[in-house]
Amino acid sequence: MEIQFASLDDAASRFTLSGASPAFANALRRAMIADVPTLAIEDVRIYDNTSALFDEMLAHRLGLIPITTDLTAYQSRDACSCNGAGCPACSVTFTLSAEGPKVVVSGDLIPQDPKAVPVHAAIPIVKLVKGQKLVLEAKAVVATGKEHAKWQPTLVCGYKNHPVITIGDTCDACGMCVDECPREILTVKGKKVAVAAGKLSECSLCRLCERACISTGIGEEPAIKVSAEPDRYIFVVESDGSLPVKEIIKRALKHIKGQSDELEHKIREISGDDKK
Ligand code: SF4
Ligand code: SF4
Ligand SMILES: [Zn+2]
Repeated sequence: MEIQFASLDDAASRFTLSGASPAFANALRRAMIADVPTLAIEDVRIYDNTSALFDEMLAHRLGLIPITTDLTAYQSRDACSCNGAGCPACSVTFTLSAEGPKVVVSGDLIPQDPKAVPVHAAIPIVKLVKGQKLVLEAKAVVATGKEHAKWQPTLVCGYKNHPVITIGDTCDACGMCVDECPREILTVKGKKVAVAAGKLSECSLCRLCERACISTGIGEEPAIKVSAEPDRYIFVVESDGSLPVKEIIKRALKHIKGQSDELEHKIREISGDDKK
């Protein structure tokens, strides 16, 4: 199994996973979405709210604000020694006090830990008109997307099989497939059509090119054929900013390994019991 990065920065990554089964590719996708922990606001104590929004609506909006998460300083609430009660190792508190006229934004949340802050300071929470007030305390805890989507660290996380495009000898460079391709993957080169340089990975496997080729009256088989490599995948992952993408991939792989080790251990235990 091999991972090759086409691009990688803190916000987004595009990489190719080779030599993996469809089950593993899907497990990696799911682990990145639902098994990598992040901080998100879970408990809100509202002292004063004379805004137009109900307390519940405010709490919901606060929960969706991405918060930068240092997983070397915080750990998942489930794994914490406080047994989920909430302590400085798995949670962080914010305070907010605002008076209208003003649009209250995520940057108005004052964190207890200066490293655990909203990823973007300009996310609107509520608009206060003159005389309206909002005073609250919010506790963010570390958990995973399995519990609620607000703990998902990814905005985009998907993959497709790596495309394969072959052009047969019957191609007469009529260009019909070139015009039909919505992603401008194809180009006429001499007496045949070809894949434009560096464009193959952008093919969506829609097969409109095959259909266009058939419509030229070429016969039952198109000159262009699109298929997918069964064990090679192109992943696109975007972070919500709570964790760098590299950390999301690393933690997801670690989670899968942990699960597989646990399964192996259980199988050994069962086989041991069987022998007795
Ligand atoms: S399968 Fe779709 S995207 Fe890919 S080359 Fe054909 S028309 Fe273009
Ligand atoms: S439509 Fe068929 S024959 Fe025409 S250029 Fe494309 S592959 Fe070749
Ligand atoms: Zn704790």
